[in-house]
This record gives sequence, structure tokens and C-alpha cells, in this order.
Amino acid sequence: MNVEEIFASNVFTMGTMKERLSAEVYSEVADVIENGGELSKTTADVVATAMKEWAIEKGATHYTHWFQPLTGITAEKHDSFVTHPNSEGKMLMKFSGKELIKGEPDASSFPSGGLRSTFEARGYTAWDITSPVFIKETATGPTLCIPTAFCSYTGESLDKKTPLLRSMEALSKQALRIVKLFGHEDATKVTASVGAEQEYFIVDQAKALQREDLIFSGRTLYGAPAPKGQEMDDHYFGVIRERIGAFMHDVNIELWKLGVTSKTQHNEAAPAQHELAPIYESANVAVDHNQLVMETLKRVAGQHGLRCLLHEKPFEGINGSGKHDNWSIVTDTGINLLEPGVSPNENVQFLLVLACILKAVDTHADLLRQSAANVGNDHRLGGMEAPPAIISVFLGEQLEDVVKQLVETGQASNLIEGGALQTGVSTLPDFEKDATDRNRTSPFAFTGNKFEFRMVGSEDSIGSPNTILNAIVAESFCEAADRLEAADNFEMAVHDLVKEYLTKHQRIIFNGDGYSQEWVNEAARRGLPNIPSMVESVSALTTEKSIKLFEKFGIFTEAELESRAEILYEQYSKTINIEALTMIDMARKQIIPSVIEYTNMLADTIIKVKNAGANPTVTVKLLNSIEDKLAEMQKALDVLTEDENKAHAMKTGKEQAFVYRNEIVPAMEALRKPADELELMVSKDYWPFPTYADLIFEV
Ligand code: ADP
Ligand code: MG
Repeated sequence: MNVEEIFASNVFTMGTMKERLSAEVYSEVADVIENGGELSKTTADVVATAMKEWAIEKGATHYTHWFQPLTGITAEKHDSFVTHPNSEGKMLMKFSGKELIKGEPDASSFPSGGLRSTFEARGYTAWDITSPVFIKETATGPTLCIPTAFCSYTGESLDKKTPLLRSMEALSKQALRIVKLFGHEDATKVTASVGAEQEYFIVDQAKALQREDLIFSGRTLYGAPAPKGQEMDDHYFGVIRERIGAFMHDVNIELWKLGVTSKTQHNEAAPAQHELAPIYESANVAVDHNQLVMETLKRVAGQHGLRCLLHEKPFEGINGSGKHDNWSIVTDTGINLLEPGVSPNENVQFLLVLACILKAVDTHADLLRQSAANVGNDHRLGGMEAPPAIISVFLGEQLEDVVKQLVETGQASNLIEGGALQTGVSTLPDFEKDATDRNRTSPFAFTGNKFEFRMVGSEDSIGSPNTILNAIVAESFCEAADRLEAADNFEMAVHDLVKEYLTKHQRIIFNGDGYSQEWVNEAARRGLPNIPSMVESVSALTTEKSIKLFEKFGIFTEAELESRAEILYEQYSKTINIEALTMIDMARKQIIPSVIEYTNMLADTIIKVKNAGANPTVTVKLLNSIEDKLAEMQKALDVLTEDENKAHAMKTGKEQAFVYRNEIVPAMEALRKPADELELMVSKDYWPFPTYADLIFEV
């Protein structure tokens, strides 16, 4: 296989455009991609035709505007290139600039949180020229996919892409002000770069399809622990099994064709858990590519008789899955603002950037927490296996010490690792980056030249987390630039600003064990928010502070924020509703009948043993305990059924979501407990679906 040849073979790359478009058209396109703006109608037509020809050569018959509604996944509606035949019955395949640039899907069935009233159901999709067009090869045949933003007819965003693009623009604008202050006059654009590590589970498809819970909710709602879990640490980085290896091999090929730089693959901590990471790229493209990674994992798994579980917590008792969002800020001249520099001047800039980020994260910890909240992640965050639900920043020993010195004395003239100091600014040190990240429990860790936001859930889009990161940092850059641009003595002003920000916001820095109870107490003492669940996180979107931030930089309007909050509450309720109904169904139609069958067999045995003149003590004892458990389970089932009916009948919104969280979730746990205990008492031959041992260890 020639990887160089297949790489991006299904992408309408800049190179392909250069080959297929005239120099004039190409440069217009390149200019819009680089600097924004719109293509002229004639150019759009030329580009569309070139795209169509390229796609048809690759076997495509259809195109689709590919977008990311607030469901968290992607949406597509295919149109063929077929047009009306002429009088002789001859048909020509066509694709116009208008079709490329704008679509009008009937959008009434996508979540809009009240933004789009039902009488105006239309929304529109608009080509995002900054993310490359690609061909997706599925059983439907190759389809030309055009990444698009999705808005309501009145211009409100209904997707994850629009606010992300707006936030990238805001960050670029404000970061440019900062780098210009440090003499980087030649920079014209600053880009948020993102590399998302994706964790996932692989199980056998045939077994997964025997479990309603995996089918309907993507996670197991019942299941006693297998005799072995992840305690032996023998899976992490272990040898990749043949069946999984064959799957990974095909995933890589599919991703490479799509221009996704699939780079690392390994077994993760839990049995049946794996990870894939691509090379980082512009945040916008990274978000699109992460969606393609998730889609590809699922699709290729199916081809191998496997099932990919992207849920944050498919199995109780072993680690769940997350998505580490690696984020940095890079100028078009190649300077990474998160890279400690080689010259004193660069280091001052680095310290200022760092101080601004600490300020941003501390000020908007609630928003950052919210951006990583989804229903599945409630099982992970704070569960002592993934970052705690409290946002804090890990800087590493050396940097933390620099901050401490600056705060205490206004100077940092010592380096903890003892290197010689040479600095142009007497009060700020020159230092080497501390690349050793020894802390895996931090939700937001500095790892040498980027921050790693580790809270994001495995199934979630990385759109929101990066939108929030860009927005909050744009705000603190803006405030810093306002002050510094007006300062008489720049050097003094930077120094004061860094000291002030660090002093004010040092409470957000935490280097210790994020899983410990001491940290929970300490964080409370520091006044850091501890937001334990998704429903509790939603209100962060609509605080005065948040509305001010998003409106200032044109990222969300207040109406858009309110609609998003509403959608999140609704999503929470709907998800828990499905889970509860699935549990009820499995209990009624599978678990209880199977247990009764087993008790029936035991009862027969008891009679037979007695007739034979013996004393069936063991069987009687077993039968009694099973009957007791079964009664307990039936009781819990009745409670859940009744509560679920009540919750479901409520008006949708915040109040309902809280009822699901505070009443239904505990009622589900109460039903699961006796069911899992029964699993351990009943013969395996009678248990109605594959167990944890079958699923996790036999792939
Ligand atoms: P680890 O598991 O040790 O964190 P991985 O190699 O699995 O490392 O993932 C690291 C991710 O961070 C990759 O996607 C990588 O491309 C990305 N990354 C590296 N440098 C940067 C950077 N400057 N900005 C954003 N992402 C980066
Ligand atoms: Mg990794």
C-alpha cells in the first residue's frame, strides 16, 4: 500500500484545485479561504463544475451538504447530480455554484430550542470554504460531501460549526493585537490548532446486538462485573489482538483517504478499549475530522463484525472513554504562543499568554465545564478515573514555581531545575519548557507547547469545547491588549499585568492529585465551582457574564444561548427517558422471565430430590434467596415505572431535566442493583443476554 498516494485521495485539496482550476479562479478561492469573504457567482459555478467532474471520476452520483446540527452528530441529505432530460431523453449531470454554496434543507426536525418556530421550518446550510470538500465512500456509493454551517432563516446558528468559526475569528483578531505588541508585525492571522485523541471500545457485533441497552443507549444498563477487570494493567499499550489490528488497519486507510492524519493507535487502560489520535490541525478542520473519525470507527467496525462503542461509560466498574482536546494558538508566521521561547522577549510574551489563559479559565471555569458536559460524561467526571468535575490548571513544577515567585516577589530569578539564567527583563526568567507531564488527573494540563483539555466525552463533538476555549481566551487577550496598547512604559505594564493576573487567578492552578477528596475540599475553600452533572452545568451558558462575553465577540446572541440551554435540558431528559424505558423493558421481558424460568427449574429439582428421599437444602436456600432478590427487583421496577411515567408527562425544560437527574437516575440505579445481584445467582444458561465477561474479554 502506498500511503502517500492514498492520502487525501478523496479530498478536493488545494493541490487538486490548482490542477483543475485556472490560475485566476484558483487564486480567488485561495484568497477567500485565507482571508474570508465570498466567491463571485461565476467563480462559484466554475468551482462547482470542477468539483462535480472530480467527484464523478471517483464514481460519485450524489452530493450532500454535510453539517453538524445540535444533535452532536452530523447530518446529510443526498441529492444526485441528475437534471431534467432534454426532449431527446438525454440527461446531463450538473452541479451549480448556487447548489455548492447554499442549501435549504427542511430543518424542522432538528433541535432548535425554540429559535425556529414551526411555521418557518426552513433553515439553510452554507458552504464552509475553510474545511475541504471530500468524498465519503459508503454502501450508498461515493458521495461528494460539502462541509457547511447550518443556520435558521433569520441567521441564528443551529449548529456547532458557526459559533466555532466565529470564535476562531475573535481569537485571531485579539491574539494578533498581542503578538503585534511584541513586534511580530508580519503576522496576519492566528489559528487555534487542535489535536483530539479519541478513545473507544470495540465489542463483538453479534453479542452487542443481543443487548437492547447497547442498541438503544450505547451503554450497558445492567451487568455484574466480570471476575477480571483492568486491575492487572495488562491492556494499556498491550499487544493489539489480530481481530482489532485488522480493524485498525482498515480504519487508518479510510481516514487517510479522507485526509485525516491518523497517527497513533494503542490499547487503552480498560479491556476492549483503544485510542486513536490524528496530528493536530486548524480547530475547524479538526472538529470536522473528529466527526469523520467517529463515523469511520463505527462503519469499519460493522464491516469486521464488530461494534464500536463511543459512549463515555459503556461498562460500569472499568474506565470510560474520553477525548483529550489538545489546543494551542499559532500565528501564520509559525509562532506557537504556547511555546516558551528562546529569547527573553518571547518568554515575556509566553508568560503574558499564560497569565491570560489562567485568567480566562478561572473566570469562565463554569463555561469550560459546561462545554464538556453531556449525558454520558456524567458517569465519568468526578468518578476517580477521569478528570474531576472541578476545573483546575496543571502547569508542571517549574512553571508553577515561576508563577509563585512572580506572585510573591514580583520577580522570578530562580529556576527550579537550576539552569543558568539569562534574561533581558530583569524580573522575568528565561526558561526551558517543562515537557514532562506527570499529572494525569488534571482536567486542563499544560503539556509543553499546548494545553490538554481532558474533560471532553468520547462521544461528544469537540466543537463546543474549542468554541469556549477560543472565546474566553479572546476575551482576556482583548482586555490585556486594551491595557498594554495604552501603556506609556510597555515593559513595566506587561510586568504589572502578568503579576496582577497571576495573583488574582493563581487559585485555578493545581498540581496535586485531582482524584482525591482533599482536592474537593481544597477547591471548595478556594471558591472554585464544582459542577457535578450536566443539568447543573447548563445555566452557565446564560449567566450575565457569559452573555456579555459571547455578545461582545459576536459568537452567540442571547437568544442562541437560551436556545442551546433549552436543547441541552431536552437532550438530557430524552436520553434518560430512553435509558429508563430500556431498563424497564429488559427487566420485564428478559430478566424477570429468565429468573422465573430458573426458579421453576429449581422448584422442580426440590420436588424431585424430596421424592427421592433426600433433603434439597442447598437448592431450597438458593431458591429462597433468588425469590427475595426477585421481589426486591420487582419493587424497584414498579417504582421506576411510576416515576418515569410522571417525569415523561412533565413539560419539557429545566425542571423536567432535574426530575430525570434527581429521581429517575437514582431509581434506575435501584433497579440495576438487585438485577446485577441476580445475574451472579442465576445459572449462565438462563441469563438472557451476554455478560460483561462475554463482551469485554471475548473480542
Ligand atoms: P498523549 O497520549 O501522550 O497525550 P498523543 O500522541 O496520543 O499523546 O496525542 C497528542 C495529540 O496532541 C496529538 O493529536 C497531537 O497532534 C496533538 N498536538 C501536539 N502538539 C500540538 C499543538 N501544538 N497544538 C495542538 N495539538 C497538538
Ligand atoms: Mg494519547
